[in-house]
Amino acid sequence: MTGAAGKATAADIDALLPQTQCTRCGYAGCRPYAEAILAGEADINQCPPGGATTLAALARLTGRPARPLDPARGVEGADLVAVIDEAACIGCARCLPPCPVDAIVGTNRRMHTVIAALCTGCELCLPPCPVDCIRLVPRAAHIPPSPRAPTAAQNRARYDARNARIARRAGERQALLDARKRAAGAAASPARTPEGTP
Ligand code: SF4
Ligand code: SF4
Ligand code: SF4
Repeated sequence: MTGAAGKATAADIDALLPQTQCTRCGYAGCRPYAEAILAGEADINQCPPGGATTLAALARLTGRPARPLDPARGVEGADLVAVIDEAACIGCARCLPPCPVDAIVGTNRRMHTVIAALCTGCELCLPPCPVDCIRLVPRAAHIPPSPRAPTAAQNRARYDARNARIARRAGERQALLDARKRAAGAAASPARTPEGTP
């Protein structure tokens, strides 16, 4: 593997990544990939959404050679956006948790829809759909016309907000479980009363 990234920080590297959070680089998101590059554990040619432009920028920042995109990670492609066939959607909500930027809206047993202006085209919602009613289309062909793709900064902000929400809810669930355990423990061993008193 390549050496560490000189004086660059993980934040410097992350700032060059497109923030689709697609995981195609082999890491859980752009920031973990940036940290792996910094640590010398990952090469700089593993980000298909960033393509040649990102690769060249990473090469400049890190001083590493700009080798072609690793074909095992996928190919650089057009700006895509997910579309749900709302007539086929069964409202199972399985596509919601994997979306890294909360671009899907809907509730259980109701049809779901993608907010095209927020979608990064990461494809992570496709595999969980039990009826294969999600497809990717070029943003330019989206009907109705979709605004431009969200910026990397917007993607990062939504990804961070989603992760913060998940962590907060996990903390709340854990606190509830701990409180229940304490209450159950107190009920199982009530305080002793002096003999002879009611
Ligand atoms: S855009 Fe996808 S492949 Fe590129 S760094 Fe982010 S998660 Fe990895
Ligand atoms: S809607 Fe699907 S393709 Fe779009 S960002 Fe969410 S998970 Fe990715
Ligand atoms: S996973 Fe598929 S069927 Fe289920 S809510 Fe999402 S789009 Fe609809």
